[in-house]
Amino acid sequence: MYDKMFYGRYGGQFAAETLIPALDDLEAKFEILKDDEQFNKELQHLFKAYAGRPTPMYKAENLSEKYGCEIYLKREDLLHTGAHKLNNTLGQALLTKYMGKKRVIAETGAGQHGVATATVAALFGMECTVYMGAVDVARQEPNVKRMELLGAKVVPVTEGQGTLKEATNAAMREWVSCVQDTHYIIGSVVGPYPFPKVVTHFQEVIGDESREQCKELDMTPDSVVACVGGGSNAIGIFNGFLDQHVELYGVEAGGTSDDDCKHARTLGKGKPGILHGAYTYLVQTPEHQISDVHSISAGLDYPGIGPVHSMLHDVCRVKYGYVRDNQALNAFKELSRLEGIIPALESSHALAYVLDNPEIFKGKKVLVNLSGRGDKDMASILERGLI
Ligand SMILES: *Cc1c(COP(=O)(O)O)cnc(C)c1O
Repeated sequence: MYDKMFYGRYGGQFAAETLIPALDDLEAKFEILKDDEQFNKELQHLFKAYAGRPTPMYKAENLSEKYGCEIYLKREDLLHTGAHKLNNTLGQALLTKYMGKKRVIAETGAGQHGVATATVAALFGMECTVYMGAVDVARQEPNVKRMELLGAKVVPVTEGQGTLKEATNAAMREWVSCVQDTHYIIGSVVGPYPFPKVVTHFQEVIGDESREQCKELDMTPDSVVACVGGGSNAIGIFNGFLDQHVELYGVEAGGTSDDDCKHARTLGKGKPGILHGAYTYLVQTPEHQISDVHSISAGLDYPGIGPVHSMLHDVCRVKYGYVRDNQALNAFKELSRLEGIIPALESSHALAYVLDNPEIFKGKKVLVNLSGRGDKDMASILERGLI
């Protein structure tokens, strides 16, 4: 009976007893609404007219020529607010409306998911509170100001490291006290069931479109590559190709080295445990505490991963590799110079994996999910003197 909550051994619903009714309610409503004609009509309209879907698939000719493979980019960077995150927040905001709730809360790390949530809250006229680690609030002032401009309240979380993990804890804790009128818009395919399923559903549009666009080009990719933080852009595009003879690669943040706290290689270096309501791989200390993690890109700087990826890793359907900060930075510059596209540092990880592994990709057709644009990263790159 509980199998539906798990991906192999991973996932589940390890949540406070007080949250179970809200999770059950969300599951029940989601199962009905995902097949509801009116709901889907409204969502498709928002995807198209508000967000800018379908996003193009673009063959990067200059890059392809230089690197000896055919590189196609799925342009999620062209979506409104500059990343794939809006697919999920639009879907969940619409769920919130259909559930009759008037308020949303969210957690955020660098502020990207917070901005995507504040955006849809403004659109739907909902009250919005975003929990953000106090350290991140200080580091990401432009995004804090964006959220406030959009009408959201940003609550700094001072516990622990003052980053994403603590912000997620705070959002879950807060949700317990206000589930009657409030929906929690989680930012990736993580958290207790049914969140991984809900977020996957709204991100699958990336893979569905990609598959269609490949058909239009009369092209089947040999490989599909995506970066993995929590794993939502990756599973979104992978699901379009899981049942085909296509090699799938997830790219984790290798940070600066494999030393403790210097990377975010959850599948590469982690072990299974429980975090934020799910059993999944986690970067841990030798004492089995959740480890601090590092990446040049804030969106990949998370010690956990969506349970579906833990399963796909164990059954070897997806190969999970990594690139270091400096490799991602190189890909960031290469795409800017050769194609006139400034990618997000997260997406730069996926691209770097292709550019730096010719032994895997030479001569192949490779589809890279360009999950977001890089304007947001300029300030921190300049601050650190990296270009
Ligand atoms: C947040 C973010 C990611 C990481 O999140 P996933 O859930 O792993 O997709 C990747 N790329 C961009 C541009 C992001 O903003």
